[in-house]
Amino acid sequence: MINYKNYPPNWLTEIRPRILKRAYNRCEQCSVPDRALIKRNTSDKFKWVIFDTEELGYVHPNGRPLTYEQRERDYTENEVIVILTIHHIGIPKPDGSAGDPHDKMDCRDDNLIALCQRCHLLQDLPNHIANAKKTRLRKKIEREQEEIARTGQLQLFGGL
Ligand SMILES: [Zn+2]
Repeated sequence: MINYKNYPPNWLTEIRPRILKRAYNRCEQCSVPDRALIKRNTSDKFKWVIFDTEELGYVHPNGRPLTYEQRERDYTENEVIVILTIHHIGIPKPDGSAGDPHDKMDCRDDNLIALCQRCHLLQDLPNHIANAKKTRLRKKIEREQEEIARTGQLQLFGGL
């Protein structure tokens, strides 16, 4: 869940709509439209097809219908409803200091990008990996400290 306390007060009323408008309500990375029902290509992550309510079937972004064979061969079985979110990139500050993707108050246009859930997850992936690494490192240090405490005690008892 988003904690809007970390965001500027005009996030929902001004900033978010401004970025979505700039993006033409599409993911700025893979260009899927917001709220569309789509299937993704299994080998090309930037290709997708959209459910067309008039065709009652999936069509390419240019409106060309998808053949049954293409759908079965090239597209995922599961369907996804696209929900765009605004990602804070964390670009460097004007003074040259490092940016921070966790700083939700940094709403410079260049720092914000509209992304579908999949592209957003991929953006956050390096953070998830970095956090997992940190957790593993912390556990390793804890284990080593326990080992030192344990062997220290053993040496103490051994000395008696
Ligand atoms: Zn996307």
